[in-house]
Amino acid sequence: MLSLNQHPTGRHFLQIPGPSPVPERVLRAISLPTIDHRGPEFGVLGRKVLADMQTIFQTRHPVIIYPASGTGAWEAALVNTLSPGDHVLMYETGHFASLWNKLALRLQLQTEFIGLPGIEGWRRGVQADLIAERLRADTGHRIRAVCVVHNETSTGVTSDIAAVRRAIDDAGHPALLLVDSISGLACADYRHDEWGVDVTISGSQKGLMLPPGISFNALSPKAIAASAHALLPKAFWAWDDMIEMNQTGYFPYTPSTNLLYGLSEACDMVLGQGLAQVFARHQRWAQGVRTGVRAWGLETQCQDPAVHSPVLTGVMTPAGLDADVLRKLIHSRFDCSLGTGLGKVKGQMFRIGHLGDSNDLTLIATLAACEMGLKLSGVALPGSGVQAAMDYFADHPAPV
Ligand SMILES: *Cc1c(COP(=O)(O)O)cnc(C)c1O
Repeated sequence: MLSLNQHPTGRHFLQIPGPSPVPERVLRAISLPTIDHRGPEFGVLGRKVLADMQTIFQTRHPVIIYPASGTGAWEAALVNTLSPGDHVLMYETGHFASLWNKLALRLQLQTEFIGLPGIEGWRRGVQADLIAERLRADTGHRIRAVCVVHNETSTGVTSDIAAVRRAIDDAGHPALLLVDSISGLACADYRHDEWGVDVTISGSQKGLMLPPGISFNALSPKAIAASAHALLPKAFWAWDDMIEMNQTGYFPYTPSTNLLYGLSEACDMVLGQGLAQVFARHQRWAQGVRTGVRAWGLETQCQDPAVHSPVLTGVMTPAGLDADVLRKLIHSRFDCSLGTGLGKVKGQMFRIGHLGDSNDLTLIATLAACEMGLKLSGVALPGSGVQAAMDYFADHPAPV
């Protein structure tokens, strides 16, 4: 058993799908002295990170930065656009979609939580036709918002957001489109404006390679217009004061100054490489990891090859092997943290994160930890996932 002052040698393999490993460049930036958030230098930093985040969300419209975890930004999206008792259509892709639904219920919204039956919905992306069908039946336009998760971190499935937008438009429905891309942003292709999203919610500790502690709402003009009439109570989360003060790079209350230093550095890294390269890098890692999983003869949680997540891979453990027992073994023997199965799939799968500050060798080592753990657990593997991933990465050089 490790105590906090008996740090193991070498580096810990933090391979959960968020918080993700933080690059040293970002950690160094965060360690700089805190400055006056009302002073002259702060406005420059504020304007820079707000502009950089617009580029990353691919939007020309305001982005809000909260000193909060992603859950806060979920709440912010709802309280700024909706009124008590409003009807909201939410889609069950997995555990995070379920948590967002619970949060909406606590805010006294009337949610309708639709999806494919049973576990099926947790193995595929959003079925846009189900959303279109439900919206067409809502001739009185009682549904005020459609809420979907872009990258379902509990399963490793990325949904087609443009298809959801088309479903809403084809039904001729005025509902707002609210999208959780907390774990997708800056890893998986995401286009707030082009896809016609009204509010995108994101967070710092996944694709943005920062520690936990800041989160985002990207807005549309339609969302801002809705916020003028939305009656759910809000103070800390209110967009109006934020939008007003952000124009000069300042915030209505104390922002997470040091995390914003880190954000500025992380944006430089992401935008310096270019969004297209960052997306391609994650797709390639995901392919390599899936190649390894296939060589073990194991199934991925995602059953639709078109929507495998570039951020993480959910791996189903063989019947009779509790995935959490396996994870604990791998952690204690090899100092590698893997994501647990959440909600409906607890014990049946584990998750390998391949996001943020990663590389081929990190992922090969992670697969090695899994492979050793599976063998120690008595699983007869038909082949080596490590070897398969090495071959994949060697044969498919990273785009430059
Ligand atoms: C991590 C995550 C959340 C929750 O964010 P917190 O920062 O833990 O509050 C919500 N949705 C998705 C898809 C996530 O990956």
